[in-house]
Amino acid sequence: MDDRPFDDRQRDDVQPLIACEHCAGVHRRRALQHGELAACERCGTVLWRYSRLTLNDWLALAVASLIVFCVANAFPVARIEIYGAERGATLLDAIGITWQQHHWAVAFMTGMVGFMLPLLQLLALLWVLLPLSRGRMPADMAQVCRLLGWLQPWSMVPVFLLGVIVALVKLASSVQVHVGLGLPAFGVLTVLLTIVGRLSPQALWRHAEDAGLAHTPEPQCKPGHLLAGCHACGLVQDLAEPVSDADDRAQHCMRCHAVLHKRKPQSLARTWALMLTAAILYIPANILPVMRIATVVGDSGHTILGGVVELWRGGAWDIALIVFVASVVVPMTKLLALLLLVLRVQWGDATGLRARTRMYEMVEIIGQWSMLDVFVVILLSALADFPGLMRISADTGAAAFGLVVVLTMLAAMSFDPRSAWDAEPAAGASAHLKESH
Ligand SMILES: [Zn+2]
Ligand SMILES: [Zn+2]
Repeated sequence: MDDRPFDDRQRDDVQPLIACEHCAGVHRRRALQHGELAACERCGTVLWRYSRLTLNDWLALAVASLIVFCVANAFPVARIEIYGAERGATLLDAIGITWQQHHWAVAFMTGMVGFMLPLLQLLALLWVLLPLSRGRMPADMAQVCRLLGWLQPWSMVPVFLLGVIVALVKLASSVQVHVGLGLPAFGVLTVLLTIVGRLSPQALWRHAEDAGLAHTPEPQCKPGHLLAGCHACGLVQDLAEPVSDADDRAQHCMRCHAVLHKRKPQSLARTWALMLTAAILYIPANILPVMRIATVVGDSGHTILGGVVELWRGGAWDIALIVFVASVVVPMTKLLALLLLVLRVQWGDATGLRARTRMYEMVEIIGQWSMLDVFVVILLSALADFPGLMRISADTGAAAFGLVVVLTMLAAMSFDPRSAWDAEPAAGASAHLKESH
């Protein structure tokens, strides 16, 4: 990310510090060469990568993403034909129809993660990149970057794209399906958003630092203080060491005023509460039907597993496998992995810390993919809406399933991976200061 020359900094001969989000290790930044990446020496987390993209390139990518976002949402992703009647649907049609069918929770969740939050994410990026690429500090940089950090994990365009493909395969066995312009547009959007998603709030702040727009005061390392990185802007600063966990009161980042804690407050209790709620809801999510299909022959409810079996029997074993992994394997793995991570922190276990950090990263990455089936259901509702002939609608199981996804993601966010490293014998985690490699 840091491809700018560091002339100004080299004059002072001091590069800013960077703190690892996963182990609290603190490192001195240095300029990277082509193809290099900086990884945390302690836990192996990638801190940042070399990128030849300039702020203007990022701006161009964000503008292109916004244009493709509009195209993807303006045109139907598919059309289907039954007895000469034709029907096309966009993502917004699917959300609207689900809302009209009174499945408000499902419509709200998919509307947020499929449309609103990705749109806000792009607007926030443009808000910061436009002035930054012109050498000016964006107004409200701190607030907008905090918002961006909050939005990024919830933007689920790639999951929606996979949902469209699964829905089309499901329909193709019984009706004629035509692909709409919206589908390839969502494909391009997925690629673009994956690229711009690399521009985290901390990366934006690093660009502002390199442009000499954001200050990076060197921490004093005062006695009774520890070095802590701001979760929002990445600035490493002195933080008054809390006497006990209960004393870990909120302090504020000196640069962006985000809340700073040594460790996330009540992390374990919150993670437990969210995990347990998710585990309980996982039962209705699997037992209750996620959708209903009403045809001339009758009305039937379909559960997630039932849907997988139908796909398998229909010969689409590859799609059946994708849905099974996303809807069954991923939520179970996420819950079990989190359970293991939480228990080992509670036992004060200091073994396998690097492996546990990789496990936490895996939980973070796979988090959103379980939303797949919920997207499939709302799309089927929008496409197969032929009154009197065939009508598909969401059902209670879909809301429960969506909530499981949201709760497990919140549980992963509440867990503080740094607390695992506190058990390491030669702790002093926050005082670690090493060159990154
Ligand atoms: Zn680390
Ligand atoms: Zn900050």
